[in-house]
Amino acid sequence: ILEVRGLFKTYGGEKKRGLKGLTPKLDVLKGIDIDIYRGDVVCLIGPSGCGKSTFLRCLNRLEVPTGGTIKFEGEVVDEAHIDKLRQKMGMVFQHFNLFPHMTVKENLCMAPVLLGLKSRPEAEKRADELLERVGLSDKANVYPASLSGGQQQRIAIARALAMDPDVILFDEPTSALDPEMVGEVLELMRELAHTGITMLVVTHEMGFAREVSNRVIFIDEGQIQEDEPPQELFAHPKNPRLQAFLSKML
Ligand code: ATP
Ligand code: MG
Repeated sequence: ILEVRGLFKTYGGEKKRGLKGLTPKLDVLKGIDIDIYRGDVVCLIGPSGCGKSTFLRCLNRLEVPTGGTIKFEGEVVDEAHIDKLRQKMGMVFQHFNLFPHMTVKENLCMAPVLLGLKSRPEAEKRADELLERVGLSDKANVYPASLSGGQQQRIAIARALAMDPDVILFDEPTSALDPEMVGEVLELMRELAHTGITMLVVTHEMGFAREVSNRVIFIDEGQIQEDEPPQELFAHPKNPRLQAFLSKML
């Protein structure tokens, strides 16, 4: 469903007002090659700053890669295909990013209606189904600020699902949550994984990676260092830097 070849991303090297010369360059992704298949649940792990978020953001073109190609469902990801890309690839962020001035239900209906994918009654019906699925039917008409972090994140997941995406990208979806709320979000993600939707999850939750994913990818030094089923990766980490990373995590 995704084909990534030679993906490079360098930050900096631009002109900036008030700065002589160019901003410093930083090579973050240095040649990522990977194929993601339909139904894959991939966990991405790696040290802070290794480029996990940058990688996800390149996939849905929140960042423009410096080099390489990305194909999604057989089509090259570029500006021309961005609308289809954003419809079919959902994203869930660490900080929820719900629209604060809209009710929960409006948050779920907005994009499908605005993009003309669904009529308002259709979008509302789908929103009701999704709220039921994430266990928050009673919150349809409240504003995000009145919800707990865990509830807000479950709504953010429902909002991604409202577009009927083929892939959902999660960037540390539980990192900003109080510990007692992590479980409810991981449980929802686990249920989602069982529906067969393709998921890419940046996470520090090794238990989730072990139990739910079919592939764990270790990124370091701008490249994929290891790509294995979790049983194999956790039991027999080959890369010394992965060994060091795991020993710090556990
Ligand atoms: P973390 O685990 O802390 O979230 P990460 O693996 O997600 O880290 P990225 O956020 O992708 O890492 O960042 C990779 C590197 O690129 C970091 O050194 C970061 O400072 C730098 N970086 C990220 N975004 C930008 C930007 N917009 N401009 C310049 N540098 C950036
Ligand atoms: Mg990150």
